[in-house]
Amino acid sequence: MKIAILGGGLTGITLARLYSEKGHEVVVLEKEKEYGGLCRSRTDQGFTFDTGGSHIIFSRDTEVLAFMLRMLEHNREMRKRNTKIYHRGCYIKYPFENGLHELEKEECFFCINEFIRNLIAVEKGEIKPPHNFHEWTYYTFGKGIANLYLIPYNEKIWKYPTQRMSCHWVEGRIPRPPVEDVIKSAIGMETEGYTHQIRFAYPRSGGIKALVEAIAAPIESTIRCGFAVSALGRQGDQYVIGNGEEEIMADRVISTLPVQALLNVLPDVPPELLVACGNLQYNSLYCVGIGVKGEVPPYSWVYIPDPRTGLFNRISFPSGYSPETAPSGHASILVEITFREGDEVDSFQEDEIVDQVLTSLQAMQLISGPEDVVYTYIERQRYAYVIYDLDYQKNIALVRDFVRCRGIGLVGRFAEFEYLNMDDCIRHAMNFVREHPCG
Ligand SMILES: Cc1cc2nc3c(=O)[nH]c(=O)nc-3n(C[C@H](O)[C@H](O)[C@H](O)COP(=O)(O)OP(=O)(O)OC[C@H]3O[C@@H](n4cnc5c(N)ncnc54)[C@H](O)[C@@H]3O)c2cc1C
Repeated sequence: MKIAILGGGLTGITLARLYSEKGHEVVVLEKEKEYGGLCRSRTDQGFTFDTGGSHIIFSRDTEVLAFMLRMLEHNREMRKRNTKIYHRGCYIKYPFENGLHELEKEECFFCINEFIRNLIAVEKGEIKPPHNFHEWTYYTFGKGIANLYLIPYNEKIWKYPTQRMSCHWVEGRIPRPPVEDVIKSAIGMETEGYTHQIRFAYPRSGGIKALVEAIAAPIESTIRCGFAVSALGRQGDQYVIGNGEEEIMADRVISTLPVQALLNVLPDVPPELLVACGNLQYNSLYCVGIGVKGEVPPYSWVYIPDPRTGLFNRISFPSGYSPETAPSGHASILVEITFREGDEVDSFQEDEIVDQVLTSLQAMQLISGPEDVVYTYIERQRYAYVIYDLDYQKNIALVRDFVRCRGIGLVGRFAEFEYLNMDDCIRHAMNFVREHPCG
């Protein structure tokens, strides 16, 4: 059985490895020069940056976590999370509700008072269950934590009004704290939230791409980079996959491409399907990598909710994940800026973005001036985060039904069009292979 896997990101590579271990002939068709998708990394002048934003390895799924760590063998570092939220010039412990005592007293009181008042009102049934993400935030955390952190941060990362986002996805994604922990945090007793991520792994060398490379090692010869799928049709029992220059035949096709890209290459897609697919919302990402002389703070990463602080929603410090990601005597900063096609950030020149980032980092005292900076790069990713808008469930159901009726498997973050982390992608690939042993 010959199985063609469209897309050579983490999901495509994992599928190829698993099917190949079952004795199938596989081919991975990837449009870029390099495989890895969002999990690519680049090393230049001694600095290694993840080009799809900062990636760490963690999971609640013990089988998948063991798989990832086994793949890396000894090429890994373990770290304890030391993550902060940049709030009014201070670095507050993450998650926000676990760092309340680090706020000014008035704000701490506002957060804890509103949290408890809200909790009582919810218990008494005085507040209606939430219908959208905005309402969910107030319903779960109260006005203090919502206004000071959750709403501004979520508006900054999604670039989409929280009132128009669904709340079906938040469970397990946004830490939901036990009441005792919030009270303890307000009076200064140490608590931790989102605990399955408190320890994480990262490749010692090669950045996150090292994980995909390790999975790919036995099947590298099956990966065709530079093959941009532009047509997918049928000839008898077989699929024909073309890139405009050549055609490849396969018995089965599994797509890990963004659904938008897949629908573009399928023949006879009804117009209403194109509309449903066009209405699926996502945002894009700029990553700016900065190499600096000297040191950076000992933080893993920092969330930046306030739009006045900078364009970025998150900054990480890869040289803290592994010393091999920066030359000796140097450190690194990786900046993530989400945007939507056609918005203000999208209209900026890339140099302009880098300049603005450096100015903001200086204002945050993360660099003392341009003389500290020895290296910069910038790269954009079209598909970064799925946005769960209120019509998401209706639109995605139509699209998935249509594709699956054509016998094409859908696995992966933008193929399934779900907020999947690396562990979810591997889990979905493992499940797909178990459920479809012949592709
Ligand atoms: C900012 C950010 C930070 C993240 N941090 C973490 C983290 O810390 N931990 C974690 O577990 N996960 C993290 N993730 C999630 C992780 O990146 C994804 O779960 C994973 O990389 C998705 O892999 P994929 O193969 O499904 O998709 P992709 O990586 O998007 O792969 C799809 C592939 O299809 C290719 N393609 C597209 N069109 C065509 C075509 N026409 N022909 C051929 N090929 C095509 C693309 O080039 C790409 O290689 C993060 C994601 C982002 C955006």
